[in-house]
Amino acid sequence: MQARAAIADGAGNFSLESIEVGDPLGDEVLVEIKASGICHTDHASLSWKRPLVMGHEGAGVVVKVGPEVRHVRAGDRVVLNWVIPCGTCASCERGEEVLCEVSKPAYVMEPSAAHAHAEGSRWKSEPVDRSFNIGTLAELTLVRAAAVTRLPEGVPFASACIVGCGVMTGFGSAVNIARVEAGASVAVLGCGGVGLNVIQGARLQGAGKIIALDARESALENAMAFGATEGVLVKEGDEQLENAIAEVHAINGDRGVDYAFEATAIPKLGRIPLQLARNGGLALQVSGIYDPGGVVMPGVMWTEHSVAPL
Ligand SMILES: [Zn+2]
Ligand SMILES: [Zn+2]
Repeated sequence: MQARAAIADGAGNFSLESIEVGDPLGDEVLVEIKASGICHTDHASLSWKRPLVMGHEGAGVVVKVGPEVRHVRAGDRVVLNWVIPCGTCASCERGEEVLCEVSKPAYVMEPSAAHAHAEGSRWKSEPVDRSFNIGTLAELTLVRAAAVTRLPEGVPFASACIVGCGVMTGFGSAVNIARVEAGASVAVLGCGGVGLNVIQGARLQGAGKIIALDARESALENAMAFGATEGVLVKEGDEQLENAIAEVHAINGDRGVDYAFEATAIPKLGRIPLQLARNGGLALQVSGIYDPGGVVMPGVMWTEHSVAPL
């Protein structure tokens, strides 16, 4: 079938093109995309040195399923996810599908359990990559069955689509990884899409104090609307966030918080959660910072088995 798709050229640009999408084989699902989010990574994907169908946050309707698919059928409303677990590797067997050793969203054309067959998406008669294995900035996409989850009735597609990336990155960090407990104190640095969902997750877990930090007043207003109990404005010139960190400690009875999250994607801020957390607290760097230079950690010392913020 023909479909329109946003194709990144690998050199920083994109264009709307016509692609040919094939029928689902085996455990594959053909989805008509109804809404797709745009994440900051989509901007990065413009320069991934090869053409690809853009987009990795999508929701839509199942058009057709392969013969092995059992959990959805044509007409089902679904949300897509890009961590597509194989179900059989050591991580998946431990129940940590999010760490699947086979699913490699950044290496989309290597044959693996995460990919629908390469010939299933063609542009100019050649197979074309699907960003993060799902390529949601297209009218149609072909994905593995494990990439689709049925949506409850009544959830609008435009809301559902972002659950597949930004929402779960933040919410999952608070609920599944940190397992914030009722009454806990939490700090969240960076209140964009991911940070706001850390806040929502912490709020749903019943956190007692949720302290939002951002350099933008408007972001702090959003944070309060999404469940933060306090806002700390990072002021210009507070490069190392010393003042902001001191303010968080002051709000929290002169100590660090139980759980500190970073959601800025700014490499030099990757270590800040270590200074926001109390001794024995948990520091989480959520935004996937890639910093080949390493992370310097002033204000932190190694004890026998762990690092302790000072
Ligand atoms: Zn994303
Ligand atoms: Zn696996």
